Amino acid sequence: MENTQKIVTRFAPSPTGHMHAGSYRTAFFAYLFAKRNAGKFILRIEDTDKERSKDEYTQEIFSVFEKIGISYDEKYIQSENIERHKEILKRLISENKAYISREEAKDGSGVIKDIIRFRNPNKVVTFHDLIRGSISTDTTDLGDFVIAKNIEEPLFHLAVVVDDHDEGITHVIRAEEHIANTPRQILIHEALGFDIPHYAHLPLVLAPDKTKMSKRKGAIPVVEYLAMGYLPQALLNAICLCGWNPGTEQEIFSRAELENIFDLEKVQKAGAVFGEDKLAWFNREYIKNLSSEEFWDYANPWIPNKFKDSPMLPKLESIIRDRIEKFSDIKTLFEGTSPEFAEGEMSYFFEKPKVDEKMLAWLNRSGKSDRPISEADLGKEIEKAHEYLKQIKTLLESLETWDYESIKGAIWDYASSEGRGAVLWPMRVALSGREKSPDPFEIASILGKEETLKRL
Ligand code: GLU
Repeated sequence: MENTQKIVTRFAPSPTGHMHAGSYRTAFFAYLFAKRNAGKFILRIEDTDKERSKDEYTQEIFSVFEKIGISYDEKYIQSENIERHKEILKRLISENKAYISREEAKDGSGVIKDIIRFRNPNKVVTFHDLIRGSISTDTTDLGDFVIAKNIEEPLFHLAVVVDDHDEGITHVIRAEEHIANTPRQILIHEALGFDIPHYAHLPLVLAPDKTKMSKRKGAIPVVEYLAMGYLPQALLNAICLCGWNPGTEQEIFSRAELENIFDLEKVQKAGAVFGEDKLAWFNREYIKNLSSEEFWDYANPWIPNKFKDSPMLPKLESIIRDRIEKFSDIKTLFEGTSPEFAEGEMSYFFEKPKVDEKMLAWLNRSGKSDRPISEADLGKEIEKAHEYLKQIKTLLESLETWDYESIKGAIWDYASSEGRGAVLWPMRVALSGREKSPDPFEIASILGKEETLKRL
């Protein structure tokens, strides 16, 4: 008979630190699995550890979910469920499936406390993990494990089991580190007569050095990536493709596509690296596909105020698009990164650059191996550069259509006959004041005829 039970998944973060890509991947996989199966996705904030949980981290999860577009059908705050956890704890004690144990506190203080232990039936627990296959554990080794600090304070395993049951969770999709918790939780489910959910434990997400990414070990939090101007949709795509792919070469996926094809079976068993290079690649792909309006919505917060209303700005759209990996890179395009570099890579579009005459000399450029050249040669080179510039100016003056192709067409034959490097180099430097820039035809086309001739 076909199983018609509606699939319900959850993401159950403990708000004890900033969450990195690995955690959001768990969330997204649980979300996608629910969507793919027309099920329900629940967000449950597991804040029962009062000392370590912080509201700011909970708020951060809500905010990142909203930004990257993971929506949930229901939301729970675990601590609000404490009465229910206590009720179940009492039931376990009254049914003799758990008991109060008077024990000396572990902190060496000599204080005697009541803690609550689960009466372990000491059996082999086997479950079928949807990613790793069958996993068996002899729970005898676990002893009568602790499920509450006292009758008022149920702990993690009990809270998880009660909530998973009450929320109707059919599939527990979570990080691999919880595999060791599963046998305990299954024993508690069984003791309570609750249905046991399906489990899928996701392999680790690794930092580029192949070590485990963790909240504590300085992995970059997803909020920070967003703040740096990575696009939410690119981040989510990169996160999703970390340890999963549908078995084709495709890497760019729309949300709708993912919701249609995501499949736990294609999650790879080995840990997968989440690297910034790959993220940057995804981001560039997504930036390419933004409409002009979307592009400027993301770019604007990064444009220095003094350039915001400049008529030059809109003309730079494609140059900026080509040059950034993330939107915060715009800052260095316009403002520079250090006092020596105060001008910013592209500020010459807005202000006439200061040009050091020596830079005009083709044979004196910094990439040249037998540099520096003699004073005499330098003088000659500069003179030649001025001649080229004058000629370029004359060729451009008569130009009626001012666009990339016409500018290039007007100069090309002359540059080819004199030596393209020698001619185009001073043109680049005169227009930009820089040795590295977009090609001089492009700069000229953006600057406009009047400004170009002035600079030449
Ligand atoms: N709250 C746990 C954590 O953040 C997850 C518990 C679970 O998914 O079962 O690691």
